[in-house]
Amino acid sequence: MRSALCLLAIAALAAAEDPKPARLERPVPAWLTTAVVYQIYPQSFADHDGDGIGDLQGIIDHLDYVKSLGATAIWLNPIYASPFRDAGYDISDYRQVAPRYGTNDDARQLFAEAHRRGLKVILDLVAGHCASDHAWFREACASAQSPHADWFIWSDEAHGHGWVKSPGPRPGFYRKNFFDSQPALNYGYGTPDPRNPWERPVTDPACRQVREAMRDVMRFWLDQGCDGFRVDMAASLVKGQGKALQELWHDYRTWMKAAYPDAVLISEWSQPVEAIPAGFDVDFLIHFGNPAYRALVQPTMAKTYPDQAFCSRAGNGDITAFLKAWQPAYEATRHLGFIALPTGNHDFSRPRSLGRDEDDLRVLHALLLTLPGVPFVYYGDEIGMRDLHGWPEKEGAMWRGSCRSPMQWGPGPTAGFSTADPARLYLPIDPDPQRPTVAAQEGDPASLLHHLRDLLRLRRDHDALGNLGGFAVLHAQPKDYPFVFLRQGAREAVVVAVNPSGRDRSWRDGRLAGATPLMVRHATLE
Ligand code: BGC
Repeated sequence: MRSALCLLAIAALAAAEDPKPARLERPVPAWLTTAVVYQIYPQSFADHDGDGIGDLQGIIDHLDYVKSLGATAIWLNPIYASPFRDAGYDISDYRQVAPRYGTNDDARQLFAEAHRRGLKVILDLVAGHCASDHAWFREACASAQSPHADWFIWSDEAHGHGWVKSPGPRPGFYRKNFFDSQPALNYGYGTPDPRNPWERPVTDPACRQVREAMRDVMRFWLDQGCDGFRVDMAASLVKGQGKALQELWHDYRTWMKAAYPDAVLISEWSQPVEAIPAGFDVDFLIHFGNPAYRALVQPTMAKTYPDQAFCSRAGNGDITAFLKAWQPAYEATRHLGFIALPTGNHDFSRPRSLGRDEDDLRVLHALLLTLPGVPFVYYGDEIGMRDLHGWPEKEGAMWRGSCRSPMQWGPGPTAGFSTADPARLYLPIDPDPQRPTVAAQEGDPASLLHHLRDLLRLRRDHDALGNLGGFAVLHAQPKDYPFVFLRQGAREAVVVAVNPSGRDRSWRDGRLAGATPLMVRHATLE
């Protein structure tokens, strides 16, 4: 196999003894074993009612498009009532859709329309904190005698930077999770120190009430028809050390699998060896915690060219750094659930930025969409949308607004996102006249969009390439390219070779002589 520039070669072989496909040893919804999830940032996806901000009806309008990509599920960032100081990750009513997105009826319609097309809908569960405007917190700030006084972690003094002065008549300080406006809900401490009265055990009645309140929220949305949750900051619920955090998620899992066996739990934890045994079906590997994703895509938070990432034209990356971080986690959890290495998400730079062009993205997508686990595609990554800088701060986005700009559907001043005046959009549209759009790429069989569809079709048609297919490294050397690996299904094995380095590389394996080429781009099989 020889490559010029960016190699991507996928070839099928007869199956061998090893590596065997993973066998799940605990109940996992069948749909998850072939799931591909498309992440929708609701305010930026499609504006149906023309007020400049995306909404649920806009999502319904585009479900056929999502389905056409080869996705089987969507994950929506928070859609609930909120003062939007953190773009909806600050919830003031867990049971109400924010008016700007529509109504609870619209949510039910979205679930039904998605299900009619065979798509699942995953909601965001912001379990660790609410908004400082939530009635629970307002009551807690009003008086230490209020029924929700102990639903938050309260102390006479601050104990570090995570503590914020009470805004109400009740004196003291509360513990926050992220912004000051996101007070941590009190699920208790893993190993409470009796000298610290604010550290309550997870068995404390107030902590139990919080746990049950969040179970009620899950039950509410599952009863409306959603198919599970992506849990925000899943490791933040129980504070301190100890097994109590794992036990909490184990408790939720046990309940959910009995009451809603087809629902999934997905964590933003980025430590699969903790999250998956604790009870999650899927854990994201992203920019914090385990460094696997960073080794492939973005080694630092800097918005410069990621020339230390494996997927970089500079060719300075080290695939063994990825394998060292990812493979032990994969081996330790493949019998219980899945790791997700997303194309991008709403908190970090888009991979198209950081100096990558469309060809670089083709190789990055080829790698991410041929690894085991559940693939997640962030809206717009399929057409190579880029980060946009230099805009005013929006709803606590800080650096993150850059990757949240409106979806580019087609021509026109708002790229088909909205009928509103472009000046009224939630965030401005990419001003580049050459900005990629769905409409332009639909008409070009060589586009990134079609490439992503082709990859997802291959993944669907070859169980070797699927979520459970076996994985083995064939070639991975420090500071060397290509990366070659084997995936294996029931009757077939598939070799995948990727060379993002931009340098000519070759790799030989006698078995490839009889292989059927499945997708060979910028490369020759010989
Ligand atoms: C979400 C962020 C959010 C934060 C606080 C996260 O990790 O992805 O967008 O700001 O949690 O809820």
